[in-house]
Amino acid sequence: MPELPEVEVVRSGLERWVCGRTVADVEVLHPRAVRRHLAGPGDFAAQLVGHRVGPARRRGKYLWLPVEPLGASAAPDRAILAHLGMSGQLLVQPQGSPDEKHLRVRVRFADAQATELRFVDQRTFGGLSLHETVPGDPDGLPDVIAHIARDPLDPAFDDEAFHTALRRRRTTIKRALLDQSLISGVGNIYADEALWRTRLHYDRPTASLTRPRTAELLLHIREVMNEALAAGGTSFDSLYVNVNGESGYFDRSLDAYGREDEPCRRCGTAMRRRPWMNRSSYFCPRCQRPPRATA
Ligand SMILES: [Zn+2]
Repeated sequence: MPELPEVEVVRSGLERWVCGRTVADVEVLHPRAVRRHLAGPGDFAAQLVGHRVGPARRRGKYLWLPVEPLGASAAPDRAILAHLGMSGQLLVQPQGSPDEKHLRVRVRFADAQATELRFVDQRTFGGLSLHETVPGDPDGLPDVIAHIARDPLDPAFDDEAFHTALRRRRTTIKRALLDQSLISGVGNIYADEALWRTRLHYDRPTASLTRPRTAELLLHIREVMNEALAAGGTSFDSLYVNVNGESGYFDRSLDAYGREDEPCRRCGTAMRRRPWMNRSSYFCPRCQRPPRATA
């Protein structure tokens, strides 16, 4: 499953290699890849031809390309949403290079650049779909993901509103961090790492967080994400836009996740793992004290 750094690499590559180009032709090689476009593959292709692709956007792990008819001056009214699923890849490839074994959709452009956009997906959990955008949204946000909150690296993320929302919710902090309507882009691994850095137990009630504590947590979430981006962003300059769900970050710099029974890098206490919502939570029992049971 691609995490935010991989999706950001793809976004950046699309911005560089696809933005501003006009669609000449769309070939759907496997209908399952556009199954979320209910009007069918033929309609999907016909709707895109003659449209110009706008700047690639991302919200958390969601990626989209706004599209607009040639000559339009208003905000884009539709967008292609890319679901990468488990194994989806968006590749910009030289025209005429051999088709990938699991090539599902090919987009050709009406210009002299000899490259095309390909959606490749071995397991076909992913796909492309075309959506109306939220009216007037300058980024062309697809209406189907309008409920997804911004991620904390987004300049428009509102720290104060996030704190207020946390205080209002009757929930615990890790649940809140994985709630896409509050904050996006924080997966299980990032959550454990940021909570360890902030010395917060995953079951801490959000209503108990002070403003400075929330600020500290956001600081650490951003650090973790930026480090992951730095480690996973090496292919920004490559023509080959790729996502493979791997990130070097996860191998070497984790302080909490996957470290059960290993010494805490701060205090030396053995780290613990607890089952948590069909996943695991890793924490230091000394640095991250569980909340006291309320009387
Ligand atoms: Zn510790």
